Amino acid sequence: MHAEIPLVDLDALHAEIAAELNEAWHRVTATNHFVGGALVEKFEAEWAAYCGVSDCVGVSDGTAALKLALQALGIGPGDEVIVPANTFIATWEAVTAVGARPVAVDVDPATLLITGEAVMAAVTSRTAAVIAVHLYGQPVDMDAINNVGRRVGIAVIEDAAQAHGATWRGRRAGGLGDIGCFSFYPSKNLGALGDAGAVTTNRTDIAERIRSLSNHGRIPTLPDRHILQGHNHRLDALQAALLSVKLPHLDRWNRARTRIADRYREHFLDSAVDTIAISPAAVSSHHLAVVLVDDRDEVRHGLNSQGIRTGVHYAVPCHLQPAFAALQQAPMPVAELAADCILSLPIFPHMTTTQVDRVAAAIKALAQTRVPIGAAAASVATAISSSMVAASPLLEQPK
Ligand SMILES: *Cc1c(COP(=O)(O)O)cnc(C)c1O
Repeated sequence: MHAEIPLVDLDALHAEIAAELNEAWHRVTATNHFVGGALVEKFEAEWAAYCGVSDCVGVSDGTAALKLALQALGIGPGDEVIVPANTFIATWEAVTAVGARPVAVDVDPATLLITGEAVMAAVTSRTAAVIAVHLYGQPVDMDAINNVGRRVGIAVIEDAAQAHGATWRGRRAGGLGDIGCFSFYPSKNLGALGDAGAVTTNRTDIAERIRSLSNHGRIPTLPDRHILQGHNHRLDALQAALLSVKLPHLDRWNRARTRIADRYREHFLDSAVDTIAISPAAVSSHHLAVVLVDDRDEVRHGLNSQGIRTGVHYAVPCHLQPAFAALQQAPMPVAELAADCILSLPIFPHMTTTQVDRVAAAIKALAQTRVPIGAAAASVATAISSSMVAASPLLEQPK
């Protein structure tokens, strides 16, 4: 029997930098300064520079980053926020956490990302923002989303929790909209050794508001006054120090992911395994290696019995999750079709070529017929999106 191939394996990654990680731990215990402080400020400056923005605020996790972004923009009850139907549940939770209403849009069948057209069609007089989720690591078409944002006057928030280092027309995720939100959950491309997150922006006023909201509504000049009703969503010094150790390696690790994704793609040419299209304007961070297969659960079971662990991101679109059933969203045919066919294959920077080839051979042997999602979903989506555009209450039709 072959050895197991996990979905994500951080053993080799952490072994590679073990001495540096230990040294960071000692640096933090030497200062006994565990929340905020110089090490947090250092990482914030490094992450702002990496993302090409003026400001970064380290926060407790990615969900907090999204909530704080919405709250800092003054979004709350009565407001609508446009979100993809298929994303991690945190994107939606952040919207309801501030009292606003998530409005689902369906995704492009080739990329499984939202489009400017679909967002435009979902805008109403109550829309306050759109959250563009760079799902699986590929940036959304931010030219199109920013155009909609400017045209109708809504904020553009990036959920870049899977897109560390990904680019759109050469500019990094996190600096492509009004506010970028990152998670440094351990398995993300840049992962802490616990929960951590960050907000990035070129708007210093927003950054200051988020910094205050994340620290009980305090402002530095009046530490005894709580100006805003805030939270405890601060970043730990230890996590910041560990992230500073990992950051110089991120681009190399992302290049390794790209080599793996490219090798999968080559394997799947002329096979019954469909891959997700990457726009020529995008460089993906390849957070996940998602393919589309017919009889997904059976294929998944077959891989599992050979020791190949896979994931499904995500098995149930957010608008169909029990937690959000009361919102009564419209059907989302592409997201719903995709949810039945998507399968996330093992990908992590230290995955070997032998492992990639073994996964590819195994899934090619198991996947017999091509999944019809490309064609089927495209026709359904076109029908739906043209009826949505016709029904759009506020706007002239996009060209
Ligand atoms: C991981 C993730 C989040 C949430 O991040 P946490 O740090 O776990 O709160 C949000 N959105 C997406 C798309 C994610 O993948």
